[in-house]
Amino acid sequence: MVKREHYKRVLLKISGEALAGGEGYGIDTDVLEIVANEIKEVRDSGVEIAVVVGGGNIFRGVKGATKGMDRATADYMGMLATVLNCLALQDSLERKKVFTRVQSAIEMRALAEPYIRRKAIRHLEKGRVVIFAAGVGSPYFTTDTTAALRAMEMNCQVLLKATKVDGVYTDDPKTNAAATRFDQISYLEVLQKGLKVMDSTAISLCMDNKLPIVVFNLNENGALKRVIHGETLGTLVHS
Ligand code: UDP
Repeated sequence: MVKREHYKRVLLKISGEALAGGEGYGIDTDVLEIVANEIKEVRDSGVEIAVVVGGGNIFRGVKGATKGMDRATADYMGMLATVLNCLALQDSLERKKVFTRVQSAIEMRALAEPYIRRKAIRHLEKGRVVIFAAGVGSPYFTTDTTAALRAMEMNCQVLLKATKVDGVYTDDPKTNAAATRFDQISYLEVLQKGLKVMDSTAISLCMDNKLPIVVFNLNENGALKRVIHGETLGTLVHS
């Protein structure tokens, strides 16, 4: 059993779907409020926090492509969707007096800084929450892969994957009552068993660079703080 750590610099991945709340589409401001409170709490405790936000609540490239759209164009639309979510989260955090910067992988200087690694690290050191928008800036990638990449670039100790369930299960707990949760699991097992933690590119990137992932339920009150402070919550994916 690997012991959990008290993390000082983390990357939080929030899917677009998580921001949609019960509606399943768009941005639920109540959910945004809860997420912003959770982030504020950990930021106030001195933890450096970077965030990657998905866009699936608004648009997904793969879905567009199945309806006949050019895949790359659809993916760029997906990346723009992440920008909407990032600005919404920034607004929510700043209203709570949490200082933030949005950095976008696709330049749009009127509303976000361009992604500059060293500048982002400096923001973290100064206690700002850095929100990464527009994925990696290239089609055929996901925001999970973006999260893995940015976590490594920012020298984060862990990738915190926020979901609607409290960890990784042997099967979908919503449809299979016999499904059990892993406290810990290896990257390889995740890949071999085809468990839906993150896409295989993201898992491989974490595996090759030994970046631990903790999958946890963001809807659980105080869960983010508890995971960061080393509680055995959710599932730890490691080597
Ligand atoms: N996307 C992309 N490149 C990236 C990140 C995202 O093309 O580096 C596109 C892709 O179409 C994806 C969409 O943006 O479907 C939204 O991101 P994602 O599906 O990862 O969001 P989430 O599932 O986390 O809500």
